[in-house]
Amino acid sequence: MRFSFEVTMNKPIVAEGGAMPTDLELLLKLQVIDYDLGELERSKEYLPDMMDNLRTEIEEAKSRLEAYKTEFDEKKVAAKNLELEIASKEAELQKYQQQMMSIKTNKEYDALVAQIDAIKQDISSHETELLNTEERISELEKEIAEQEEKVRKAVEVNTKQLEILQNKIDSIGDTMAAKESERDKISTQIPRSTRSVYERVRKGKGGTAVVMVKKRACGSCHKALTPRKVQEIKKGDRIHTCENCGRLLFWREDESN
Ligand SMILES: [Zn+2]
Repeated sequence: MRFSFEVTMNKPIVAEGGAMPTDLELLLKLQVIDYDLGELERSKEYLPDMMDNLRTEIEEAKSRLEAYKTEFDEKKVAAKNLELEIASKEAELQKYQQQMMSIKTNKEYDALVAQIDAIKQDISSHETELLNTEERISELEKEIAEQEEKVRKAVEVNTKQLEILQNKIDSIGDTMAAKESERDKISTQIPRSTRSVYERVRKGKGGTAVVMVKKRACGSCHKALTPRKVQEIKKGDRIHTCENCGRLLFWREDESN
């Protein structure tokens, strides 16, 4: 599992100097700060989740390694037991083969042959089982070595990530405070009426309140604008809002408008 800091929301457009009226420039700056503040707020939840996932990843790698080691030990014991059993069956077989020398009757002979056949079959099936067990043991040796490497990597990589995330969490408070004071500074420079439109739309619609005209329509809800309205927005001497979604509209020369 890999984690990224990317978010699905589009980063708002950063204000540019030039033709845009100051109020809009300031609103766009405010919007970027609000976006960042929102992200920081969200990160209070998703950063600890990411940390949990990184820790789980390490734990899972370790417990998989433990499982392989346990199975390895079990198979070793099983192989040892099979070897002992085969040895004892072979001793038994030898004893029967000795008895063959002193057989008196056909009936005795038939019975002994049946016993010998049975024990040979028994030995053969034990040997097959031993072979399978030994194969699994050598597979497990490989798996254990590979898993040890996985654990080592997970610990190394995830520990670094955890440190980075912990630092991020620790600094959220300070970063937010800095953004808030920057926000206050910008906010006071915007006329109250404009600011209240911005705040109302932002709270009502969530997220982006100031949007660019795209294809002669609102860049958010895509409601078409009259040519006259586009001309007025282009002039940029006052704030215009979309009659459909209420967002504040601005014009920027761009191939998309
Ligand atoms: Zn709209």
